[in-house]
Amino acid sequence: MRAHPGLTVVAAACLAVCASAAAAPLVAVQCGQLLDTQSGKLLGETTVLIDGKRITQLSAGKQAPAGATVIDLAGQTCLPGLIDSHTHLTGQTSPTAYSDQFRWNIADFAIRSTNYARVTLLAGFTTVRNLGDNANTSISLRNAINAGVVPGPRIFTAGKAVGSTGGHADDSDGYRADLMADYGPKDGIINGAADAWKAVRQHYKDGADLIKIMPSGGVLDESKSADNAQMTIEEIKAVVAAAHDYDMTVAAHAHGAEAIRRAVIGGVDSIEHGTYMSDEDMKLMKEHGTYYVPTIIAGKYVEGKAKVPGYFPPQVAVKAAAVGPLIQATAGRAYKAGVKIAFGTDAAVYPHGENAKEFGYMVEAGMPPLAAIQAATTHAAALLKQDKDLGSISAGKFADLVAVPGNPLSDIGLMTKVSFVMKEGVVYKQDSKPTPFVASLNEGVAPRDVDYGL
Ligand SMILES: [Zn+2]
Repeated sequence: MRAHPGLTVVAAACLAVCASAAAAPLVAVQCGQLLDTQSGKLLGETTVLIDGKRITQLSAGKQAPAGATVIDLAGQTCLPGLIDSHTHLTGQTSPTAYSDQFRWNIADFAIRSTNYARVTLLAGFTTVRNLGDNANTSISLRNAINAGVVPGPRIFTAGKAVGSTGGHADDSDGYRADLMADYGPKDGIINGAADAWKAVRQHYKDGADLIKIMPSGGVLDESKSADNAQMTIEEIKAVVAAAHDYDMTVAAHAHGAEAIRRAVIGGVDSIEHGTYMSDEDMKLMKEHGTYYVPTIIAGKYVEGKAKVPGYFPPQVAVKAAAVGPLIQATAGRAYKAGVKIAFGTDAAVYPHGENAKEFGYMVEAGMPPLAAIQAATTHAAALLKQDKDLGSISAGKFADLVAVPGNPLSDIGLMTKVSFVMKEGVVYKQDSKPTPFVASLNEGVAPRDVDYGL
């Protein structure tokens, strides 16, 4: 069991009843209301029974089974733990971010990432898909969280992003010549199908859970275009074929219409950002079942910062001002066209912990509140291929539960006021306050993928 003082009360209550069977503690969470994200129905008073890490039963009304520790969430609406399908937990925007990378060591980023992980969890996001880091720091962060060393969401990580020379994944774009590097597949930079296979296999060796590719330009690198096509269909197909050999999905950062078209035809699982998505792209995405992860909040945030002199390098400011304002309208069009949407925010581009603001932006874009919440639960779980364990409050699934003070279907702003957070049966936040966390000091290395079925 992970040491966690949030469990002290539970454990104490369990001593007499549970010790003989050495069973995990039984917990009954009494929800004022409960949103069934599978049926889309808001249920009245419901008790969720939890045995260890998993939900065993849902019953109508306020139940208090013998031996169970009761958590009373009267007046609150329970939701499944939220899933952010696009984060970067090992960095964060700041006015000095571009120069920090020349002064900070990997350890400086890694230590800060533990704070970013904690605030993300406390905002109600019990699972994230981390889409790009440096030096595989997010793989180490995932392992530390799984081992109980630091608190944070369950992480499925892509490690370092994969792209082409001079493209959005090439970290030395914009540097002076003697600081530029000629990266190769080991660093995620590929030119040709053979490199693509090597890069994916290296990611598998490194311990990544999925693959992130950069088939189009991006906003925050210091090259010219945010939307040009930067990978061939052959390269994308090679990445996807290699990833599938290792049971990994592929997420594609793509702003431009041509890059989106190539990525969808190439077989990726999701398009990230999708700014200039054409009607033809949307049609293709529906045919291929490709998810769209809009990241509206990232667009809004960089649009604002592009107006602050010196916040971004000049080339980045130009792209941020052009791309930032467009994403929300694209999300609205895609939803209307029937493209499947998964919730994602590009956390790091804006400050970690503010992820839930995306819900309001999605509703502003034209999505009903229920659809926005399903994007962060059932749809995001399906995109991760983890719907067996995540995405709804159902018997057999992980006990990942959050609560908000009221009905989020009538006030989507409540999603930014998460008052209760439980992940795998452990309470991290109650009465809107974090519970104390005691780190596990001697867990060693957690096995990869334990419990997650990947
Ligand atoms: Zn991103």
